Amino acid sequence: MGKRVFLDNAATTPMAPEIINMMSNMMKSHFANPSSVHSFGRESKIVVENARKTIARLLNTAPGTIFFTSGGTEADNMAIKCGINDHNITHAITSKISHHAVLYPLQDLEKEGVIKLSYVDIDKDGVISTSHLKQLLESNERTFVSIMHANNEIGTIQDIQEIGDICKHYNAIFHSDTVQTIAHFPFDMQKLNVDFIAASAHKFHGPKGVGFVYISEDIQIKPLIRGGSQERNMRAGTENVYGIAALAKAMEMAYENLEEETNYIKGLKKYMIEKLKTEIYDVQFYAKCTDLDNSLYTVLSCHFPETDIAEMLLFNLDILGVACSGGSACSSGSSKGSHVLTEIVPESKRPGMRFSFSKYNNKEDIDFAIAKLKELF
Ligand code: PLP
Repeated sequence: MGKRVFLDNAATTPMAPEIINMMSNMMKSHFANPSSVHSFGRESKIVVENARKTIARLLNTAPGTIFFTSGGTEADNMAIKCGINDHNITHAITSKISHHAVLYPLQDLEKEGVIKLSYVDIDKDGVISTSHLKQLLESNERTFVSIMHANNEIGTIQDIQEIGDICKHYNAIFHSDTVQTIAHFPFDMQKLNVDFIAASAHKFHGPKGVGFVYISEDIQIKPLIRGGSQERNMRAGTENVYGIAALAKAMEMAYENLEEETNYIKGLKKYMIEKLKTEIYDVQFYAKCTDLDNSLYTVLSCHFPETDIAEMLLFNLDILGVACSGGSACSSGSSKGSHVLTEIVPESKRPGMRFSFSKYNNKEDIDFAIAKLKELF
């Protein structure tokens, strides 16, 4: 097989070798069920609880606010369904560019007649209008607000500090999908007025199928998944012990070198923007992607001149050895266009493409991708 480069890190990241080693050792040493009372079980339990403490320390919160889940989708579903059902919420607000892990459970609750669902206005870059949010919150109903921190397709970042303060003022419950930003940006849960956030280990060099939901101490919910008494009765099912340990270690590694890695990845993004501008005819960028300090530094979302091979662009790049994404990977393979791009550029026929980076990429990867793009345009 020829050279290939992976520029699809917003879909998932390669696992860190240190994490693979740790997990494989732990699969041998910590196979026991953490609910078992014998010494084997107790050793597994200690792993889970230490992971919880590590994550809590990194987010400046209490360990009791962290509940392990099977990933970001479950964390978002748990926050939304339980936050709404257990608090008799009749009105919810989100934006049309939320991830489907947020939009679909909310739309289900709307269809079931549980809530009225409002969509807050966004500007051309996908930034939400806080004045419209306030207007929507003026009703007397207790409201559930779900606004994602950073968009996985176009990299737009929302000011969740300000949104949290607005929600608190109106006594609304606030959930933020932070799947693209946990372990990529610093978080201090003591400063944020947020009731729920969600995280997923595979977005920061950990394994797939494990994540967590943070639930503020001010809010009580009943479990989404029922069964055993794991996670203090809040999430039934035998814990993914090595996945949980790996999640905590991946997060710890990310936060240890956050500034250095952020600057490195930002440098790659800047390099690719410059290369695209100089080497490819009429490339344009979505939303605030070229504003390095005000967009997700891992994501570069752009669009190219109209072409007959628009549908085939991703496949052609793949054949040439460049792995990237058109819109969100979650919709790839389906003929439906991206719901996010439809919101911000409804009329455009220009093919969109998302390149996303990690610490394992380098400038040679970008040079390679640019050379292959030049073969197509
Ligand atoms: N939310 C956002 C913003 C995402 O990017 C993703 C993953 O693509 C998810 C939620 C779902 O996370 P997971 O893959 O862990 O279920």
